[in-house]
Amino acid sequence: MPVPISQAWTVASYVLKQKLAGRKQYPLVLMLEPLYRCNLACAGCGKIQYPAHVLKRELSPEECFKAVDECGTPMVSIPGGEPLMHSQIEKIVEGLVARKKYIYLCTNALLLKEKLHLFTPSKYLTFSVHLDGQKEHHDFTVCREGGYELAVEGIKEAVKRGFRVTTNTTLFDGADPNSVRKHFDEVMELGVEGMMLSPGYNYDKAPDQKHFLGRARTRRLFRAMLSNRKPTWRFNQSALFLEFLMGKRDFRCTPWGMPTYSIFGWQKPCYLLQDGYADSFSELMETTAWANYGTESGNPQCANCMVHSGYEASGVDYTFSSLGGMLAMAKAMLFSKYEDDEALRMLNEPVKPMHSYNPLVQINSNAANLEETRA
Ligand code: SF4
Repeated sequence: MPVPISQAWTVASYVLKQKLAGRKQYPLVLMLEPLYRCNLACAGCGKIQYPAHVLKRELSPEECFKAVDECGTPMVSIPGGEPLMHSQIEKIVEGLVARKKYIYLCTNALLLKEKLHLFTPSKYLTFSVHLDGQKEHHDFTVCREGGYELAVEGIKEAVKRGFRVTTNTTLFDGADPNSVRKHFDEVMELGVEGMMLSPGYNYDKAPDQKHFLGRARTRRLFRAMLSNRKPTWRFNQSALFLEFLMGKRDFRCTPWGMPTYSIFGWQKPCYLLQDGYADSFSELMETTAWANYGTESGNPQCANCMVHSGYEASGVDYTFSSLGGMLAMAKAMLFSKYEDDEALRMLNEPVKPMHSYNPLVQINSNAANLEETRA
């Protein structure tokens, strides 16, 4: 099992409680963004284009705890920015562990090795390391040569010291499914607990607008990659969400499932869009026009979206909504190979990896901006 039983039990009992209380819209994972500052400037990222005065700001540990207590989710994901650059990240983690929250600290791991001494291994703390594929592909997508090696060093050290470690991989158009399958082999050999996947989202602020996946191409890529699975691969996410990415089932977006709290407040409606902010979690739930979002809404911003922050909670909710959902999950766990001859054929189709015809672009950071962000 890729997730410890205590975590699976905590999440299952939380969701069942929401169901028994008749709640149709409930949060599952809080996306807590304590800063936007980062030590990378990835071409597909929509977060690091803020001006220096925004990049300098941080949520205090107390602001983080207030958001976590208000929202009440059993899991907290800490993306950013790069959370390891937060001046009090160890205090935030300590406070969340004390609250028995399962934390996924999402990091590019460039600083992981040197900051590990700040943390204590715990079943509540997982380092979720951003690795977008094999070495050449990862360095290309994060626009930094040597980024892969540093991340792998950080993973090895964290695993050696007894921390829970997973990887998270974002895939863009032009990804080579064979290379990603080799990446799965390499990552599992590093001793990580499991892997997480998501297609990238078309951020309008991202410097590279050419390589975001449409829905049909997303399904095709994930079908090629995730069919005919090897028994050594473990995925630390909902099996039904992976089936959704492979085109085997459809879900509606549940943006309230992974609400986002950042230096600006509670973000409407989801982790990806910024259609305003609320001062409290209850205000977010009550004042967001949820019907205006999701692919079926016709909102062009949602047209191609299949990302985990919109649809993974939908998969979990479906699992606990009916006997059919439970059976689908049991089947996905028992028959996890997904044999598919057509998908094998797709793996033989020629692919020209993005990095073979695009130079690695090191995004130029404005030196003055960076200077200003050194708090
Ligand atoms: S479809 Fe995507 S962009 Fe639209 S609300 Fe859902 S998660 Fe956000």
